[in-house]
Order: sequence, then structure tokens, then C-alpha cells
Amino acid sequence: MSKEDAKAIPVRVALRCRPLVPKETEEGCQMCLSFVRGQPQVILGNDKPFTYDYVFDPFAEQEEVFNTCIAPLVKGIFKGYNSTVLAYGQTGSGKTYSMGGAYTADQGNDPTVGAIPRVIKLLFGEMEARVDWQFSLKVSYLEVYNEDILDLLAPPRERSAQISIREDPKEGIKIVGLTEHVVTGAKETVICLEQGNNSRTVAATAMNTQSSRSHAIFTILIEQKSKKDVNLSFHSKLHLVDLAGSERQKKTKAEGERLKEGININRGLLSLGNVISALGDESKRGHHIPYRDSKLTRLLQDSLGGNSHTLMIACVSPADSNMEETLNTLRYADRARKIKNKPIVNVDPKAAENNQLRLQVQQLQVLLLQAHGGTLPVSIGGEPSENLQSLMEKNQALAEENEKLSRGLSEASGQIAQMLERIIMTEQQNEKTSAKMEELRQHEALTHCILLSGLSVRLNLDLQKTLETLEDNELKHQVKSFCSLQQAIARLQNESPPCVDEMDTSEQGSESVSKS
Ligand code: ADP
Ligand code: MG
Repeated sequence: MSKEDAKAIPVRVALRCRPLVPKETEEGCQMCLSFVRGQPQVILGNDKPFTYDYVFDPFAEQEEVFNTCIAPLVKGIFKGYNSTVLAYGQTGSGKTYSMGGAYTADQGNDPTVGAIPRVIKLLFGEMEARVDWQFSLKVSYLEVYNEDILDLLAPPRERSAQISIREDPKEGIKIVGLTEHVVTGAKETVICLEQGNNSRTVAATAMNTQSSRSHAIFTILIEQKSKKDVNLSFHSKLHLVDLAGSERQKKTKAEGERLKEGININRGLLSLGNVISALGDESKRGHHIPYRDSKLTRLLQDSLGGNSHTLMIACVSPADSNMEETLNTLRYADRARKIKNKPIVNVDPKAAENNQLRLQVQQLQVLLLQAHGGTLPVSIGGEPSENLQSLMEKNQALAEENEKLSRGLSEASGQIAQMLERIIMTEQQNEKTSAKMEELRQHEALTHCILLSGLSVRLNLDLQKTLETLEDNELKHQVKSFCSLQQAIARLQNESPPCVDEMDTSEQGSESVSKS
């Protein structure tokens, strides 16, 4: 699926209000925010309601925040999606606390542990459960300080080495020259986080004694390959971003270096605000988005309006002394909700290309089969070119065989016609022969009859003579009756002339009878 076809998913916003800190209570600050139970709504003062995807009041624990809106993003990683969690807010509002950007190993499993160590724990737990998959993880940690990108995982001397941002049409924003630390376990990954946290540029400001003076991005790159299907593999990115404070300069009472930092921090945040406004404004859809105005917006290009599921945690102080900054943050967060991202499943480019080629080969095979009336065997898989070649050869051989067979068939049909002709002629001959035989049989029977009658005539004459010479009376009687029998036969023969007439020999016979 391409980015253009992807479903638009809005950036989600969680508003998190920290409790009043001791400094604020000491100063007699009052709460300027109130919460609507069971509703993701916060009211500033008496009459300024704001609704977000999630709202966490000062009593919300780290675990609740994590389980409600961060854990689902981690799960999305295993489906091949990119995810970003972005903490925004004025200095001292709870960004670093929420993200776990100051985590040290001795915090262990303390309930105050922030998002990043929890993400690491969940990631490795999920990976262990997915026995059919093979994972490889890399982490990087950078900060944008005074518009420079610093590598927080590099040794101090190489921290400010040349790092550049490139845009890959398929893989999105890539940071060249950044340390990518291969990690195999949660402990190792947490050590990377701790090491980077210790390297962050912090300084005390009027708002926060340990204020982060930079934007920090902790990135986990995850590659997952199915052990069952070589063509199934994803690669996703998880960005965990702790932005620098969004307050105005006059509030930090900054001078010199702090002021310069503040100007640069605000430059990044100002660009970020412009990007968020441009992305969230329906009427400006399709217009230029000023991602290139700062390193921060360039680095977050995929996370805002791009290929990522993104959550912004907007952190605010409830103190009335911060009311103006809180209102700014509430408005900023409201605009961010209007950004529509287009997250896609990040299939490994090589596996995607393989799948594409396999699909093309299958389609070609089907076309070839259709072209030859389904006479060729379908064989899916194997080397595409080899397969096609062997199909062509088979096709040629079959065509030649077909030619031979049709030649043989036409010869055979000629022979069959000749044979049929002969059979018909033989049958006609047979019929003629049978007729002739019947004729002859009848002829023979008649001849016998005529001969017999001729003989009997002669016998009759002889018998008359014999009768005259006989003395024995009984013998005489017998000869007499024989004579009368002869005469009866002769009479009968005379009474059946048609049969005799038809015969060639009949004239002779009748002549002989009449002569007698
Ligand atoms: P930021 O990073 O925005 O400058 P921090 O995260 O350093 O602010 O928070 C400022 C102070 O507020 C820290 O002392 C932190 O422990 C405290 N704090 C922030 N959020 C909470 C919270 N939800 N519950 C308790 N304390 C918090
Ligand atoms: Mg901070």
C-alpha cells in the first residue's frame, strides 16, 4: 500500500496536567484548571473548555497514562507501523517526567518511571512472546540544540560530528551519521537511554532547575522477520520525543547564552507551530508545509502529517501563575488534533519487491496458459525467467507434435474412406452372388424334378411291360399301384407350368413330358 492509499488517521492528543509543585504552593498559586469526570475535557478558568482524545488530571499515575495511550502504539509497531510520542509544553510542565527522559537505572520499577523505560519493557516482553518472529533492534538518541543535531550515544568528542537529514522516497526521513546502537535486551536498551539522558544539555532556568534546553528524540528501529515466511518482514520506527520548553523568553528571565538557547528553542517550536497550523488547516490542504524551516520540523516530518501513528502529550501546569502559557499549550494541542497522518504498514522493501515479482510471474503464467487453451502445466514459484523459458519450449514441442498428429489424421481418414468404398463394393458383390446362388439352387431343384418326371415316364412304360409279364398277383398289384402313382405325379407336373416356364431348361423338360 502506498502513502496515498493509506487511511488518514488524526494525530491524537493527550492533555496531562501535573500537580502543583512545592514552589507553586509556596507562592500561593491556585489551580486554574478543572476536569469533567469521565470526559476527556478540561476547563481553563471558569469558561474555557477544551476537549482532547485523552485528559489526565494531576492524580493520573504514570502507569495509567502509559497503558491508556502509549501501549497501543507499541503494539502497532508489531504490525509494521511507525509510531511517535511527542511531549509538548512549557518548561516545568512535566514533559521529561512523562517521557522518562531523566530516567536512571536506580529508579528501577518505581511508579514514577516515565514512558520510555516502560516502552522498552513492553517491547521486549512482546518480542519474547512472538516466537515465530525474529527481531533486530537498534536505538539512537539525539538532541537538537541551537539548531545543531547532537548524537547523545556517541563518545563526547564525536557528539557534534556531521549529522545530516535525508529524505528517502520509500523509507522517509533518514539521519545520516548518527550512532545506531544494536540492542538485544531491555537492560542494554535502558543503559543507552540513561547514557543519553546524562549527555543532554540542561541548565537551570527560572522555570525549572533542571530544564532541558534541547529537543530530544530517542528512536528505536525494529526489524521483524517471520520465521515461517521469508517474504514477510516489517521495519518500523518508534520516536519518543521530549521537546524543550515552549515558554516565552521574558518568563525565563534569560540572558546571554540562555537567551540565545531560548531564541533557538523557540525557533524550532515556532516552526513546529507553523507546521502544525499548516497541516491542521483544511483550507490550506495541499499547500506547502514548512518542514524545512528548522531541524526539529524536518526530523519530525514523518510524525506530523506523514507515515506514523502519532500521540502528542500536551503537558500543563495547573497554577494560575502559568495561565497564559497553559492557554497557549491548550490551543497548540487543539490544532495538532486536526493533523491527519497516513500511517502505512512498512513492509521490508526487498520482501515487497520479491512479492511483487512473484505476483507478476503468476499473472504471466496464467496469461500464457489462457493463450494456449490450458494445455500447459501451471507451476508457481521457482525462478521466473527459467520457468517462462521452459514453458515456451514445452509449448513449441507440443505445437510440433500437434502438427504431426494432424498430418497422420488426414492420411488415416483417406485410407478409411477407401476401405469403406471397398466394403460397400464387396457387399454389393455378395448380394449379387447370393442372388445367383438362389437362382442356381432353384434351377437345380427344377432340373431334378424334370429328370425325375422323365425317369418316371420311362419307368411307367417299362412297368407296363413288366406288368404284362408278371405272374405273381401280389407283385402285380404293387406294380399297378406304383404305376398309378407315377401317373399322378405326371399329372401334377402338367398342372404347374409357371415354374417350369421360367426356367431355361423348362422347355426341354416339358417337351420331354409332353412327348411322353
Ligand atoms: P519539563 O520537562 O516539562 O521541563 P519536568 O518533567 O522536568 O518538566 O517536570 C518539572 C517538575 O514537575 C519535576 O520536578 C517533576 O518531577 C514534576 N512533575 C512533572 N509532572 C509530574 C506529575 N505528573 N506528577 C508529579 N510530579 C510531576
Ligand atoms: Mg524537560
